[in-house]
Amino acid sequence: MQEVGMSSKLDNVCYDIRGPVLKQAKRLEEEGHKILKLNIGNPAPFGFDAPDEILVDVIRNLPTSQGYCDSKGIYSARKAVVQHYQKRGMLDLDVEDVYIGNGVSELIVMAMQALLNTGDELLVPAPDYPLWTAAVSLSGGTPVHYMCDEEADWYPDIDDIKNKITPNTKGIVLINPNNPTGAVYSRDFLIEVIELARTHKLIIFADEIYDKILYDGAQHHSVAPLAPDVFCVTFGGLSKSYRVCGFRAGWMLLSGPKQLAKGYIDGLDMLSSMRLCANVPMQHAIQTALGGYQSINELILPGGRLLEQRDKAYELINQIPGVSCVKPKGALYLFPKIDTKRYNIHDDEKLMLDFLMQEKVLMVHGTGFNWPKPDHFRIVTLPRVDDLEMAIGRFERFLSTYHQ
Ligand code: PLP
Repeated sequence: MQEVGMSSKLDNVCYDIRGPVLKQAKRLEEEGHKILKLNIGNPAPFGFDAPDEILVDVIRNLPTSQGYCDSKGIYSARKAVVQHYQKRGMLDLDVEDVYIGNGVSELIVMAMQALLNTGDELLVPAPDYPLWTAAVSLSGGTPVHYMCDEEADWYPDIDDIKNKITPNTKGIVLINPNNPTGAVYSRDFLIEVIELARTHKLIIFADEIYDKILYDGAQHHSVAPLAPDVFCVTFGGLSKSYRVCGFRAGWMLLSGPKQLAKGYIDGLDMLSSMRLCANVPMQHAIQTALGGYQSINELILPGGRLLEQRDKAYELINQIPGVSCVKPKGALYLFPKIDTKRYNIHDDEKLMLDFLMQEKVLMVHGTGFNWPKPDHFRIVTLPRVDDLEMAIGRFERFLSTYHQ
């Protein structure tokens, strides 16, 4: 057989959250080491259980979920998504505007594949959840990164966005609440972005998968209800707020002037048909999750585990000499900054690999989130306080003698 190489389509595609550092962690595990994994936002392994009623719903519906369903999803799940956004003030919605996917991940790739031609540009935040950049590149488009400003609570720099719009710009991605920074955007900021989208005829892609994971009274504003005249594609799912990442249940909602996007919608329909449908049993969880009691509130309000862990991680990180962090207002991560001069760091992936080898803790380097400088890393706030103390304590010890 001939040597088999990777498709050139993947030349510029990168997803470091499960990249070389994770491979090294797996090797260490095979050698018998216990690795504390703070690299992915997967609540279940940290003892966060899904609400019982969601599990019961899936089990109950299992016998009748043996066949394929409509490519865009089962009716009850799509209807529940419509009602969820109707409650947020969006009136002109129909079940046909909703696509259910095997997680938001599948739908992000689909949304990019159906849209982009070579040379098309999409504005993506830096730092970003790297699937966005990867999906744009895989689809033949060009990701153009707009900068988020750490000094301004990680809000995007609106002037940078404006300066990066060209005649080739098709749309802008907003991740709100943000992974990895934890920023939650105000209504006023969203209105500024909507204004830009209106002027330059951009599609807004709103990744709102963390919309219910909010701290300190932060409020989440969905962008689509604020922009009824702008074509918006909104993403949400069960993975984070309902702690069922493994169910792979997410949705995508189209809103605004859909009549102008007929061709694009035909493309989405075709891609959606080509994968036949999303996992059917798990779609039954969507109606129950969205409509029922929102148990996530017990975790994020005062006394809640997620809030306590965020507070502890933030406090400990900021105590490390030369490390500082903006307090996240939402999501499940911290994105701290390291004084690279103090520690003479110029390769953040090597930093994370060296830390893994020495201290057996896995975190992700900031450049893995398309951040341009090697001076950040991401840590998840899902572990219990004891584990956070151990992991961050080990990082402090490691850094104190580290030089590249
Ligand atoms: N979008 C963001 C911002 C995420 O952080 C993640 C997962 O971490 C996803 C999408 C993918 O979620 P899903 O499990 O629904 O594929």
